[in-house]
Amino acid sequence: MAQTPGKLDMDKLLSLARRRGFLFQSSEIYGGLASCWDYGPLGVELKRNVKQAWWRSIVQGRDDVVGLDTSILMHPKVWEASGHVSGFSDPMVDCKSCKMRFRKDDLKGDKCPSCDGELTEPRMFNLMFKTFMGPLEEAAAIVYLRPETAQGMFVNFANVLNTTRRKIPFGIAQQGKSFRNEITPSNLIFRTREFEQMELEFFVKPGTDTDWFNYWVNERFDWYCRLGIKKENLNLSVHPKEDLAHYAKSCTDVTYNFPMGWGELEGIANRSDFDLQQHAKHSGKTLDFFDEETKERYVPFIIEPSAGVDRSLLAFLCDAYEEEIAEGELRVVLHLHPDLAPIKAAILPLSKKENLASTAKQVYSDLRKSWNVQYDDSQSIGRRYRRQDEIGTPFCITVDFQSLEDGQVTIRERDKMDQIRVPIKSLTQILAAKFSGEDFLELPYGGQVWKRAGENNSAGKKDEP
Ligand code: ATP
Repeated sequence: MAQTPGKLDMDKLLSLARRRGFLFQSSEIYGGLASCWDYGPLGVELKRNVKQAWWRSIVQGRDDVVGLDTSILMHPKVWEASGHVSGFSDPMVDCKSCKMRFRKDDLKGDKCPSCDGELTEPRMFNLMFKTFMGPLEEAAAIVYLRPETAQGMFVNFANVLNTTRRKIPFGIAQQGKSFRNEITPSNLIFRTREFEQMELEFFVKPGTDTDWFNYWVNERFDWYCRLGIKKENLNLSVHPKEDLAHYAKSCTDVTYNFPMGWGELEGIANRSDFDLQQHAKHSGKTLDFFDEETKERYVPFIIEPSAGVDRSLLAFLCDAYEEEIAEGELRVVLHLHPDLAPIKAAILPLSKKENLASTAKQVYSDLRKSWNVQYDDSQSIGRRYRRQDEIGTPFCITVDFQSLEDGQVTIRERDKMDQIRVPIKSLTQILAAKFSGEDFLELPYGGQVWKRAGENNSAGKKDEP
């Protein structure tokens, strides 16, 4: 029975994510742990690819940013200096009737949105997770799981400056887990208590900060577009002056139009010299920069683009998802950018017969040296294409009986479903060119356009898959 293509909602996404091994509920066999998620075999590949795309764009692809990987547990004084001990709190209210708990600033009116009951007065709730370092559970042993990765970079400012002989402007970047005891975690991996961040602290000369702030807002917006997110689903949301933290000069969020509504992907803030001044004051160390050329000494301002790995991944998944009717059947396809796709290509022998399988396996082992590819010989070719479409594999390579004679294979492209027939000996170069954006129907290494989407058999060849 032909189904009708529908719109994405979070239940559909969760169903796909669980069925295909992107996401599992944490500790599922024990009933699950609320708001905690495990990334499955495809999820972990997608997550690594998101992080790698960010790392290449922020660190390896630039000459003014270096990376760092700091520990999750830090000296408790860090969190006093940063203001997190006294100020990292959300106002929490409880419903007196149904006992539901809410973040006050998420509520529109002053009644419970679930049962219209009366709410308690707001209580401030610190979001940092506390634990104890060492065997004694006493006040002196309290440490916190970091609620952001940023502080690890601020406290290493002088170390990085001294060891890398950097000059302002330059940045320090890191990726890693952060923890916040959120009052209302929700929407799969959008808001969880354990999550991963990708943060850049970019140190600039005071006076140049506004230009750098604008530069990073544009740069970060473009990053999501370059990786395939549709522009109309992205927005920049400028924080009004009265909502800014006292030290921040400006802040703009990159937001995404999720199925449940617009939500923040990343915040870009001009943090002034607050962080370095605070740590200098609390540690007694000098955290400034001396410019040898101008003989000026100053405390740099910091521009901070702070993104969530899990939220970006969710946005990439939502944006890539499409249902359509193809050849009379419902096709679910993830149009993931090739840099993000968990599996880059699937090798599909048309039959399990030994002579075909050995050629296909040779193709598989050759390509595996360069990319994460998959070999699949079970069920019909149509079913195998659909499986790969649903997990976002950009290319399917079909090995058929004619391949044994002409040394060529068919590549089928995911989005338009066009097919080209190309020499096996050039397959690595061809795929590399296609991954880096070459038009699919261009054939600089030889071969032919085999079948355009919507045509039955344009090339008129036998054994066409
Ligand atoms: P929100 O207002 O949604 O709580 P925030 O403004 O407190 O977010 P930041 O402190 O600016 O968030 O953190 C930077 C980024 O880290 C966010 O844009 C988001 O992508 C990610 N992030 C923050 N909190 C969470 C969370 N609880 N779960 C998943 N990702 C998060």
